[in-house]
Amino acid sequence: MNQIHRSILYNIDPIGIETGLVESLSSYLIRISYEHNIQVGHLVNKLVVPEMHKDYLARSSIYGGNSFYEGAKTINGYTNNSIELVCVLERLTTRRDLLNLTLLKLKDLVPLRNLLKETFSWCPECIKKWNVEHKIIYYPLIWYLKPIKICIEHKCYLIEKCTSCTKKIDILRRKMIPGHCPNCFNLLIQDQLRKEINQQEWQWHSFVYRNIESLIGLKPSEIFTQENISNQLNDINNNLFSDNINSFAKFLSIPKSTLRAWAKSENIPTLDGLLIICYKLETTIFDFLTKSWENIDLNHQIEKKNINKDKAIRRKLDLTSIESRLKEALIYEPPISMASTARIIEHDKRILYSNFPDYCKQISKRYKEYINQKSKQRIEELKKEIEKAFYYLVNEGIYPSSEKIQNKSNKKGLLKERILQEYWKDLLAQENFYRRKGRSSNDE
Ligand SMILES: [Zn+2]
Ligand SMILES: [Zn+2]
Repeated sequence: MNQIHRSILYNIDPIGIETGLVESLSSYLIRISYEHNIQVGHLVNKLVVPEMHKDYLARSSIYGGNSFYEGAKTINGYTNNSIELVCVLERLTTRRDLLNLTLLKLKDLVPLRNLLKETFSWCPECIKKWNVEHKIIYYPLIWYLKPIKICIEHKCYLIEKCTSCTKKIDILRRKMIPGHCPNCFNLLIQDQLRKEINQQEWQWHSFVYRNIESLIGLKPSEIFTQENISNQLNDINNNLFSDNINSFAKFLSIPKSTLRAWAKSENIPTLDGLLIICYKLETTIFDFLTKSWENIDLNHQIEKKNINKDKAIRRKLDLTSIESRLKEALIYEPPISMASTARIIEHDKRILYSNFPDYCKQISKRYKEYINQKSKQRIEELKKEIEKAFYYLVNEGIYPSSEKIQNKSNKKGLLKERILQEYWKDLLAQENFYRRKGRSSNDE
C-alpha cells in the first residue's frame, strides 16, 4: 500500500535554486507564512518551534520571548539552528531542497566571521520591478552576505534603512510581508535620488558580487574546502613567487604572518580575505580554487589584459605564423612570460598551449629561470648593501645592530627577510660581535 505523505504547509517552490539569486531561508519562511495568510510569528510558534524540540525556544515562544528571532541573525548561514529549521520546514512542506537556501555549501570553505549582515539590506529597484510586473517578491540569499553592497542588475547600492520610516530591519520579525517594511508596512522601494556608484567602487563591488554569486550557485559536486585554499596558496607561492612568502604577502598587501597561517591551514581566510586574494591575482574564486598555477606567471597577473580573449579564440588560427612567432619569443631578451607571449601573438594562452605545447613549455621555463635568477640577484645586491652598512658602522666604532644597519642603508625592514637576517648574523659571528657586544654591555 502506498503511504501518502500529506504536507502540513503548501509545498511552494523556492526561487532560483542553483543560481546566484537563490532565495534565502528567511525569505522562504516569510513567503510561506504570507501564502498561508498567517504571520511569521504564528507559523513559528504553532508549527516550527514545537517541531524543533528545543525547550528553551518553546518556553520563549509561550512567554513571548525573542530567542528564535535573535538566533535568526544567522538563519541563512550554516549553523545548527539553520539546519534544524531546514529539517522542520522540509518535514512540513515535504520538500527536499531547502538546504540550498542556506550557506551550507560554504561551510568548509569560509568561516562565519564577517560572513552575514546584522540587519536586512535590499535592492529597492528589484522590489519595485517585481511589484510592478506582479512577480513574486522574495529576498535572495546573496543580499544577506556582508561583502555584498550592490545589486549588479540595477547598478545601485543595496539599502539598509526603510526610506519611509528610516528604521533598520531585522533579519526576521514576527510580522513580515515580502517586500514591505515590518515597522511601517510601506513597500521597500526608494523614490529619492539614489547614490551613484563611482567607477572604482563599482570595479571592486561588481567583482565581489560576481564571485559570491558563483559560489552561491555552486552545484553540490563543486563544493570546496579550506584545504583547497591552502594547497592553492602554496602552489602560487612556489610557482609565482619562487617560494618567497614575504613577496607573496607584499603582493597581496596582507601581513605575512596571516598569509603563512592560511598557507599552513592554521587559519582560514574570511570571505573578504579570499576575495582580496583573488582580486589581487585577477582571478575568480572558482578559478583560484580549481586551476593549476604551474604555467601562470606574475606578469600576466599584474599587467592588464588588453586582448579580448573571446575574439582571439574565434579568430582563425594561422598555425605557421604562430609557430614562427613562438620561436621568436624563445630568443627574446630579457625572456618573456607565456602570458606576454600570448598578448604579443594575440592568441589565447590555452590555444597556444594546446597547439604548441613544447614551445610554450620552453618559453615558460626560460622565463621562470630568468625570474629565479633575478630574485637571486636581488638578494645578492641586498647582501652587498648590508655588508657595506655593516663595515661602515664597525669602522665608526658603532655596534652594527639590525636597526643601525637598516637606518644606514635607508631600507626599513631590510633584515626582515630570513635569508638576509642570517647573512647579517653570519657577519656578526665572523667579526666575533656576539662576544664583543656582551663585553660592551658589561662595560656600561
Ligand atoms: Zn536590483
Ligand atoms: Zn519602514
